[in-house]
Amino acid sequence: MSKKAIIVIGGGLGGLSTGIYAQMNGYETTIYEKNPVPGGLAILIYTLFPYYVKKFLKDLISQDLLFYLISAF
Ligand SMILES: Cc1cc2nc3c(=O)[nH]c(=O)nc-3n(C[C@H](O)[C@H](O)[C@H](O)COP(=O)(O)OP(=O)(O)OC[C@H]3O[C@@H](n4cnc5c(N)ncnc54)[C@H](O)[C@@H]3O)c2cc1C
Repeated sequence: MSKKAIIVIGGGLGGLSTGIYAQMNGYETTIYEKNPVPGGLAILIYTLFPYYVKKFLKDLISQDLLFYLISAF
């Protein structure tokens, strides 16, 4: 049987979260984002609060969740 696949439209926090959990549950996941970088509204937050966003990413790495996020693209 072929692996189930999903497509997520939009790489904001909602789309990225969906991608992570779909990948973790065995779905072949593709995220389409119209902008050159993912993140959506959260990118605006990064420009305002870079320290907290970097800490969040470090936490993701320490929990091995960044792997799922990257492999979804
Ligand atoms: C200053 C600020 C502070 C915030 N603080 C908090 C907070 O403390 N806690 C909290 O819970 N929330 C907070 N939020 C809200 C939170 O950031 C948003 O609710 C969240 O980012 C929304 O994510 P989303 O994926 O639903 O939408 P978006 O982030 O808007 O992502 C949608 C994505 O879809 C893409 N897209 C749209 N149309 C298409 C298309 N046709 N094809 C491909 N891609 C497409 C867009 O480019 C975008 O990247 C804050 C927001 C702001 C602006």
